[in-house]
Amino acid sequence: MEKTFRNYDPLDVTSAVREHYRKMRQHQTLDYVRGMHKKYLTFDKPMPLWEAMEHLNSLIDVSDPDLDLPNVQHLIQSAEAIREDNRPDWMQLTGLIHDLGKVMYLWGSDEDGTSQAEQWGMVGDVFVVGCALPDTCVYPEFNTLNPDMKDKRYNTPSGIYEEGCGLDKLNLAWGHDEYLYQVLENHKENKLPEEAMTMIRYHSFYPWHTGGSYTELLNEKDQDYLEIIRDFNRYDLYTKSNTIYDLEAIKDYYQPIAEKYLGNGPIYW
Ligand code: FE
Ligand code: FE
Repeated sequence: MEKTFRNYDPLDVTSAVREHYRKMRQHQTLDYVRGMHKKYLTFDKPMPLWEAMEHLNSLIDVSDPDLDLPNVQHLIQSAEAIREDNRPDWMQLTGLIHDLGKVMYLWGSDEDGTSQAEQWGMVGDVFVVGCALPDTCVYPEFNTLNPDMKDKRYNTPSGIYEEGCGLDKLNLAWGHDEYLYQVLENHKENKLPEEAMTMIRYHSFYPWHTGGSYTELLNEKDQDYLEIIRDFNRYDLYTKSNTIYDLEAIKDYYQPIAEKYLGNGPIYW
């Protein structure tokens, strides 16, 4: 039987996935997101890349209905599929690190939704805060639970944003995409191309890249972003399997690429 991905049907999916999305929709408001930026974007915790990878050995993403392996396995599976297709080295590295922002669980809390137990501020499809929630969100029935949807400033299609302002001006729900993007933006040795940074920042933004929502906020540049994300997402989604890799064994191949684009020093989280 052919495997289907991203099936959120209540009859198939665990209640943990649904519960995750209910809490995410309920707690991720514009105020919350602003608070998380202040709290987490401090860049004062040095940790080498490979140590961060190892920490994802102890994290299973509760929002993912397709995979119940430690997250580091998903990262290696994505990277290896990109490598298999002979795609550029920077893209292979991007596959390897794209979910590394989940290390925030090391300094996260249940209250912020950034812990092992509470992951609603860390993983799952993201949406824009500060404007209306579209019905392309998974479980759109939870949209009304978001307190911002009762606020006139925030519940219109463009909300606090100028029409056509473009993706880069929007505030997305807080999670591992934005965290890693900001950490790498701040990383002085970062030489990853812009496309890689786009893949990292927007890969969880399903209501836009797959749902086709937020048209009033987009600009021309976002059309290019869309192509970049769609290219990357095939590897993020369709490579999920039960193949287990050994992190130590793949290091030999990826270490020189990591060094080329991220340098030798630690990354400041
Ligand atoms: Fe991700
Ligand atoms: Fe991923």
